[in-house]
Amino acid sequence: MIQPSGKTVDHPKIREEVGKLCTRFPGEHWNKLDTERAYPTEFVRALTDAGYLLVLIPEEYGGSGLNILAAAAILEAVQAKGRNRAACHAQIHTMGSILRYGSPERKERDMPEIASGMLRLQASEVMEPTSGTDTSSLHTTARRDNDGCVVNGQKIWTSRAEHSDLMLLLARTTPRDQVVRKTDALSTFIVSMKTVQGLTVQPIRTMMNQNSCEVFSGEMHIPADALLGEEGRSFRYILYGMTAEWLLIATECIGDANWFTA
Ligand SMILES: Cc1cc2nc3c(=O)[nH]c(=O)nc-3n(C[C@H](O)[C@H](O)[C@H](O)COP(=O)(O)OP(=O)(O)OC[C@H]3O[C@@H](n4cnc5c(N)ncnc54)[C@H](O)[C@@H]3O)c2cc1C
Repeated sequence: MIQPSGKTVDHPKIREEVGKLCTRFPGEHWNKLDTERAYPTEFVRALTDAGYLLVLIPEEYGGSGLNILAAAAILEAVQAKGRNRAACHAQIHTMGSILRYGSPERKERDMPEIASGMLRLQASEVMEPTSGTDTSSLHTTARRDNDGCVVNGQKIWTSRAEHSDLMLLLARTTPRDQVVRKTDALSTFIVSMKTVQGLTVQPIRTMMNQNSCEVFSGEMHIPADALLGEEGRSFRYILYGMTAEWLLIATECIGDANWFTA
């Protein structure tokens, strides 16, 4: 990979080491998982222990503070070996929204545990059965109550929902007809999936072992500090995170080598 400056920013050592790690999990291992519709827990644990899933987290939170090109090298190396990065690629980048828009308290609380792999933040709920690409027409609502919000709605294709502790949820906090720009009505919440009441996760059977789910929120109460950043400003937060995801999925090279750490 070459930056516009001409500086080589490929990561041959990372690619080589990731490749070696992948060989510990041969094709038969993946075929068995696929047959059993099982999650590649051991593979994800090995990537975590080797420090590959924390590369975009700044060093002050226990990450390695590398840039998105290093993350792209890791994920591309996984795919080049025929392994499935979709099992955990979101653990690398989803926390970018928290790093950029989260409160200092939230970052202090969650980031070290996300970096260590103790907390999995690898699910994000944007897509709904009736909104698809047209995100601003989503129907899930979050209404204020005394000490937080109550969420109602349905999401679909929420990948890794069964294997995540935290989830980013995009919901409507103001009716669409009460805002000037329709994107102003959306807010993002950080949901503690293992403890919240009113959340139902239902796996979707797919041709490939994608671990995607339908997720239903029925009068789901979340605390006030679950709100990420400012209320009604989340369209940009989600786009920020998605841009990183798209870049990593495409393993394309961008000039801004400090995507999450600038
Ligand atoms: C395996 C898998 C995993 C996924 N994981 C997640 C996840 O973890 N979290 C999550 O939130 N979502 C996830 N998704 C959802 C994914 O982001 C959506 O599939 C995507 O947003 C497209 O929505 P849709 O299928 O309704 O397509 P539609 O919105 O119906 O679009 C269909 C086609 O029309 C095009 N199109 C739509 N609107 C326009 C327009 N105005 N002008 C021109 N072209 C247009 C689109 O580009 C697309 O090609 C996942 C999907 C899959 C299949």
